[in-house]
Amino acid sequence: MPDTTAAPAQDGGMLRPAFWRHKKVLVTGGAGFLGSHIVDVLSGFKCETFAPRRHEYDLVNFAEAKACLDNFQPDLVIHGAAYGGGLGMMQVNPAKLYYDNLVMGANMLEAGRLAGVAKVVVTGTACSYPGDIGDSMNEDDLWKGFPHKSVYHYGLSKKMMIVQGMIYYEQYQFNAVHLILANLYGPRDTFHPDRSHVVAALIRRFVEAKEQGAARIEVWGSGRPVRDFLYVEDCAQVVLRAAEVYDDPAPVNVGPGRGTSIRELVETLSDVVGYTGEIAYDSSKPDGQRVKTLDVGRMARCLGWRPATSLREGLRRTVDWYRHNKAAADQKS
Ligand code: GDP
Repeated sequence: MPDTTAAPAQDGGMLRPAFWRHKKVLVTGGAGFLGSHIVDVLSGFKCETFAPRRHEYDLVNFAEAKACLDNFQPDLVIHGAAYGGGLGMMQVNPAKLYYDNLVMGANMLEAGRLAGVAKVVVTGTACSYPGDIGDSMNEDDLWKGFPHKSVYHYGLSKKMMIVQGMIYYEQYQFNAVHLILANLYGPRDTFHPDRSHVVAALIRRFVEAKEQGAARIEVWGSGRPVRDFLYVEDCAQVVLRAAEVYDDPAPVNVGPGRGTSIRELVETLSDVVGYTGEIAYDSSKPDGQRVKTLDVGRMARCLGWRPATSLREGLRRTVDWYRHNKAAADQKS
C-alpha cells in the first residue's frame, strides 16, 4: 500500500484551476445537496462537467451506470450520489437504503474501471465507523467493531467501497479515493422533517417558532450526543482538493475534527435565529451514536487542507439561505 503520510505541496489547501483545465468530470448526485456545490465550484474552472439525473441514468442498474461512463467518457468521477437522511429516515426502509448505496457504489467503481477513468473520488460517511469507538475516530479504527445499530446498514453499504477501492488498487492499480465525511449541513440541505438531519431539522423548527412567536420547541433525545459539523461549501472544496492531490485507497476523514454537542448546537442556533423561547428535549426520540468526531490528522498531512467556515458562520449562512428559500426547501423531500 502506498505511503499515506506524504505531504502535498504547502499551498494552504487552495484548489488548482490548472489541474481541471480540459478535464471531463462526472459528478454523480450533481443535482443533490453536496453534488450541486461541487458542480458550482467546477463551473469556475475550464473543465467539462456532467451531472446526470437519476431519470437519465439509474446508477443502481449496472448497464445504465456503464452507459453513463461510456457515453460521457470522463477523466475523473466524483461519486457524490447517495440515498440517505437523518436518524429518523434511516429507520424507514433500511433494506432499500442498504441495497441502493451498496450496488450503486459497486457499479460506479466497476464501470469506472472498465471505462479507464483515471480516478474515482467516493464520498463516504462517519456512520461506517464502529459504534463505540470513543471520542475521536481515527482511520485505523475503522475495522475495530460494528457500526451503531441506528445506521449500520447505511454505514456498511458505503464502507464496502473502501474494500473495493483497496482490492481494485491491488489487482488493477485502479485509483479510488475514499473520503469519510463528517456531518454535513448548509444551503440546499433537505429540510423536510421526514428526511432531515439535525441542523436542517432544527433550523426549520427555530425559524418557524420565531416567525409564529411559539413559546417552545422540541429537540430530539438528550442533547448529549456529539457530532462533527462540516459546512457543505467547505466539503465541496475538500472533495476537489482530494481529486487533485490524493492517490491512495487508504480512506481519509474530512471535517473540522471538532466535537459539538447537540445542546451546544441548539444554543448557537437559538442565538443565530434570535429565538428566546423554551427548549424541550424529547427523550422518547433516539439519540443515535454517542459521539461522532473525526480525527483529521491524515487530512491535514495528506491534503494540506482545513475547513474555512466556523460553525456559527456556517449556521448563519444556512439560516439566511433557508429564510430566502423556505417555500421550496420545505417542499423538497
Ligand atoms: P446522525 O449523525 O446519523 O445521528 O444524524 P442526525 O443529524 O439525524 O442526528 C444527530 C443527532 O441530533 C442525534 O443525536 C439526534 O437525536 C439529534 N437531534 C435532535 N433533534 C433532532 C431532529 O429534529 N432531527 C434529527 N434528525 N436529529 C435530531
